[in-house]
Formats: sequence, C-alpha cells, structure tokens
Amino acid sequence: MEKFRALGLSEDILKGIEELGFETPTPIQERVIPVVLSGCEDLVALAQTGTGKTAAFGLPLLQSLDLDSKSIQALILSPTRELCVQICNDLIKYSKYLPQVKCTAVYGGTDIRKQINTIEKGVHILVATPGRLCDLIRREAVNINQVRWVVLDEADEMLNMGFQEDLNFILEETPKERNTFLFSATMPVEVERIAKNYLKNPQEITTGKRNQGADTVSHIYYQVMAKDCYETLRRVIDCEPDMYAIIFTRTKNDARDIVKKLQKDGVDCDALHGDLSQAQRDDVMSRFRAKLLKVLVATDVAARGLDVDNLTHVINYNLPEDIESYTHRSGRTGRAGKEGISVSIINARESGKIRRLEKMLRRPFTFCKVPSGEDVGRAQLHYYADKVVTVEPKEDVDKYVGELFAKFQEMDKEMLIRKVFAYEFGKLLKKYRNAKDLNIMDAPKPKGEQNDRSTYKVFSINVGRNDGFSPRSLMEIINYCAPRRGMDIGGIRVGNDETKFEIDVDGVKNFPRFFNGIQFEDTLIKVKELDEEPVSTPKVKKERWSKERRDRGEGKSERKRGDKRSKRNNTAQNKYRRANAEGAKRNSKGGKRGK
Ligand code: AMP
Repeated sequence: MEKFRALGLSEDILKGIEELGFETPTPIQERVIPVVLSGCEDLVALAQTGTGKTAAFGLPLLQSLDLDSKSIQALILSPTRELCVQICNDLIKYSKYLPQVKCTAVYGGTDIRKQINTIEKGVHILVATPGRLCDLIRREAVNINQVRWVVLDEADEMLNMGFQEDLNFILEETPKERNTFLFSATMPVEVERIAKNYLKNPQEITTGKRNQGADTVSHIYYQVMAKDCYETLRRVIDCEPDMYAIIFTRTKNDARDIVKKLQKDGVDCDALHGDLSQAQRDDVMSRFRAKLLKVLVATDVAARGLDVDNLTHVINYNLPEDIESYTHRSGRTGRAGKEGISVSIINARESGKIRRLEKMLRRPFTFCKVPSGEDVGRAQLHYYADKVVTVEPKEDVDKYVGELFAKFQEMDKEMLIRKVFAYEFGKLLKKYRNAKDLNIMDAPKPKGEQNDRSTYKVFSINVGRNDGFSPRSLMEIINYCAPRRGMDIGGIRVGNDETKFEIDVDGVKNFPRFFNGIQFEDTLIKVKELDEEPVSTPKVKKERWSKERRDRGEGKSERKRGDKRSKRNNTAQNKYRRANAEGAKRNSKGGKRGK
C-alpha cells in the first residue's frame, strides 16, 4: 500500500483498493496516476487489456472530482456494453469510501429512458459507448459541457468498430480545456490521427513495447491438416482439465459448429456471436463468469471489450489476419501479472503467418506436438488422482465409511485404484484408445541448422510420360499440395507410367497423404514412399558443386543453350502450366479413376 500512497492517493481511495487486495501499483498505474493527479496534461497510454489501466485513470479521477457539483465531470468512452459496465463497477468498488461519488454506465440495447432518468439525478462520471452517448447528446438528455476529463478507453477497438465519426462528434461537444487520456492496446494510424487532432502535447506512456503482447503470455502452436483442427482442439481441451478459456473463430458459423461438437463431447461451453440478443449474450456471459462454462467460443467482433479475469488460455482456432486482432485476443489471458497461454491451431500452410507474428510481436512461438490419446489419458488420470490425494475428507462422509469399507474388504489397493479409474475414465480412455497421430511436422529445425544434412526420401507417383506428365507437372503438384513452400526437390525420373522423385521432407510426416484426392488430368494420384537410397545430395553441397563446375567453365554453354530453349518454349510452357494447374485440382469425390 505504501507505494500507492506514495503516488499521492488519498486515504479513502487507499482503503477501497486495499479491500480489493491491491498491494502494489502495476507499471501503468505507477506512471499514469501521478500524471493525472498533477492535473495538467493530456496522455496517450499504450497498454494492453488486463494491465490495470481502469484503476490507472480511475483512481486519480475519483480523487479529483468536485463532489459539491452535480455535473458530469469525467466522461469515459469505451467500445462495448460489457466494458462500460465493468469500468463502472470497478469505479464503484474503488470509491467505496467516497459514497457521494455518482457513476453510471450508458450503452445501446437497453431502455434509454431509464438511463436518462439516472443522468438527471446527477452523475459525476459517465461511462458510455460512443453510439449511445451521441444519441443522448442529440436528444439533449445529457450535458457534457462541464466535462474536465475525457478518457478514450481501448481507442483502437472503438475505431475498429466504426466509431470514428461518433468520437469526433463527442469530442467537439466537450470543452476545449478538458484533459484527454487516450488508452489503446495498439497504435494504428487511425488512433494516432485522433491523438493528433484532439490531444494537446500529450505525454506518451508505454508499458511494454508497441504492438507487443503482455510478457506473461506464452505463445504456442500446433500444426495439423485443416480437417484435424477440431480433433486437435478437443485433445488440447481434454489435456487441460483446469482450462478456463476463450476460443476465437473467424465466423459465427464456426463458433456455432464448434460449440455443437464440444457439447456433444461433454465440454461445458457456449457461443458468443453477433446473432445473439442482448439477453442471450448476458446469459452466456454470466454463466461463463460464474465458471459454469469451461470455454466460451467467440468471434472477434462479439468478444470485443470482453473483460474476464483469470483465463488460463486463449485459443486461436483460426489465426486472425492482422497483428492487432492477435494482440487483442492473446491479451485476454495473462492479465494482472498472471501466466497465460495463447494457443494457435494452424494448418499445413500457415507456418509463414506464425513467423510473421513472431517477428512483429518479438516473441517466440513454441511449436508443440498435438497430444496423443495416451497424453490425454495421462493428463486426466493424474489430475483426478491429485484431486483425490489432496482432498480433505469432510465429516459428512465419515458416517458412510464403515459400510463402504465392508464393500471393498476383499479388494487390495491396486485393484481398488484400477477399478475406480476404470469406472471414472473408461469412456474417455476408450474414446482415445485408437487416436491417430495428428502431427504433420516434427519440430521445425532451428535457424542455421537447415540444410545441414540431407533428409531426402524417394517417392513414386503413379503418372508418367504416357499421361503427359513431366518434371514441371510434378513441381506444380508439389507446390500445390505440400505442407510448405519451397521444399527441396532432388532427382526426378519420369518413366512411362510412373515417376520417381526425391524430396527433402525435412520434418514433414507422412508426405504422401498430402496428395490424397488430387487428380492429374483424369488420373487420381497416388504417392508412395519407396525403400530406395536417394542419390541427391543436400542443397548446400549441390550449390557448391555447381559453383565448382562454373569455376571450371563447365555448364556455361549449357546455360546459354538453356536460355535459348527457355525463350523458345516460353509461350508453350505457360499454356502447359495452366493446363496442369487445372489438372491439379483437388477432387473431393476422390477422382474419376484410380490407377
Ligand atoms: P484492468 O486492466 O483495469 O481491466 O485490470 C485487470 C485486473 O487487474 C482487474 O481484475 C483489476 O481488479 C486487477 N488489478 C488492477 N490493478 C491491480 C493492482 N494494483 N493489484 C492487483 N490487481 C489489480
């Protein structure tokens, strides 16, 4: 508490937050509270959700109010109803020992008349969504010309949600001499523009780096075939009996679909998406907050402004397109200094996106193997065993113990354990008994180790010269089907009815399955691994070898010949490539004829 006191907070405020269990200020509170208390500056604070920013601006504002006046002195704008309510509730808790403070939240989707009545009774702090506040201003139901402070909370989210014009309108309606505090998790140009237009020489406060998530979140990913994403999700959930998570999907149909499947699999969950009425939304959220739901499946839009503490995981069922969304999603866990995990389930072609996120967030993303059936079984059994070991038997049980003892009299300890676990987990273990390996990759090699050794393997494909197949067709099909780009292809031998080729599979598991359901012209393709030694050498050596040949003057004339040939064949090759690309279409029905 001493550190809070040293920031200049009054005893009434200190008492309130002490009761909430706050001991030391968070970094954003340490920096923002004195600035707001000093009363003279505008502020741009780059802070993630969960860093304690509500108290950072809320505590000094509460302390600075003129409680003799009944006018609205502080206006807090936030993107969603949930966040408005949350902020208002937090302020009410912080001001427990300042009972004269009046704070209310106004937002769309509820009776505006009730809100007008409350405002008329006198409010010091108004927390509002921009849309509803504009409505109130236009109806002349609210007077904001005595406002001394405007807080734009989650400014990037407000702009994402299209509130730009509303914000401009509101800010124009407030007195010029107000102080404006802008809080945002990310700083896109639109937010910078607002800061430039409406803030006067703002002090910039950054805790953590720009566009960077909380330090307490670790980022992990699983890489699987697209069709195995759900099964992966289920295993990840089953492996974490204590999980309390939000699963993010791109569309509401995905959210609905996943909820249906998870409910069928016995997971307590529900969906949050744009099609729900406000009452349904409230119902889902109250069950989730009460932890009656273990997971909430939500779209980005529906989850905006959601404020739930103590999430253990955030799961990206689909990776979002942009870094801002990823930061917002992952920022919902790892809050208030607690550890959190952001899980991404990616398909075979998305490793590039992970690398880009790593670069932009400057955080490592750890590749994890999808849990096997055995991993899930072990996690569940150990969790249960630990609970049994640590539970304190209550007296209510004692009166039955004698009877139960008689029932188990003949049984030794080992048999008892086996029976209890078989009864509790028989169904689950059966479900996972034949669970297949969903991993398509071993761990990616660390940088610098790539190409140090050959991982060439020899494969055959059931098309050859007689089918019009050529090395180029092979490359096109590999580019189309392989789980990642730029796989190193070694020797290619096109036979009459079959083509053999070597490829550096480098961590890719079961390479032939990527060609399932692919057709070349009329032929359904089958790729098989052959038990043959590759003749190709790794790329590095090959490059060295061709350099040596060049240095000796070999290959020069070949290259010239090649250049001429390639010019001559350019048009023909283009046509050919198009024809093949057509042929390499995925055939969901499994092809017209096999070979
Ligand atoms: P916020 O970022 O304002 O949504 O806060 C996230 C969570 O951290 C809320 O549950 C706050 O009650 C809690 N919190 C904020 N400041 C502190 C603090 N100094 N010590 C402990 N918890 C805090």
